Amino acid sequence: MTPDDIDIVRHPTARRVKLAFDPASGRVRLTVPKRASAKKALAWAAGYGDWIAAQRARLPEARPFVPGATVPFGDEVLTIEWQEGASRIVRRAGDRLMLSGPRETVARRVEAWLRREALRLLEADTAHYAALARVTVEKVAIGDPRGRWGSCTSKGSIRYSWRLVLAPEAVRRATAAHEVAHRVHMDHSPAFHALVAELYGSDPTPHRQWLRANGASLHWYGRSSSDGG
Ligand SMILES: [Zn+2]
Repeated sequence: MTPDDIDIVRHPTARRVKLAFDPASGRVRLTVPKRASAKKALAWAAGYGDWIAAQRARLPEARPFVPGATVPFGDEVLTIEWQEGASRIVRRAGDRLMLSGPRETVARRVEAWLRREALRLLEADTAHYAALARVTVEKVAIGDPRGRWGSCTSKGSIRYSWRLVLAPEAVRRATAAHEVAHRVHMDHSPAFHALVAELYGSDPTPHRQWLRANGASLHWYGRSSSDGG
């Protein structure tokens, strides 16, 4: 294990050295208190080499967007079909995602298509729950955060991970209901959870659990194993 494998994070209020593994990125994070020695912390972490190796061995498989690969899309599975040609347009036909154009840009264009679809679907989900909750949503945006699936600002902007489009539809919709409910309650109080269930129409707990159990694997789509972080 070399320092290259580990992200060292200086933490102003941490009391002790802490080691964590992020299955979404495959990176090891070593939290070091402000004045502690990084060298000593690394030596301490070296004692956990077996644990880190075990975590790495259990990482989800990288699923690059290459011709012939399959991509989960809501409750469906799409197959990427590339053929020689000039058009750069990505087109869905049934369960096929068809494109031509430069082969080396296939991955980038497939991801761009998925991001557009994610925005379209999540805007619709958000509008649906916002109407039920009688709240306004200033703006819906998508990004690719590692640690969260959605966030809602006090000003009413909601931001989602585009990777929700890779999850089952119920999971995506339950996440939208969760974020819209934050337009009423900016906390995770019992009243907030009651409102999420009311908006969603049933208990969303299984869908949160699905994300906890499978969320990391969604971060490995569109990546080749050599991507590193
Ligand atoms: Zn929340």
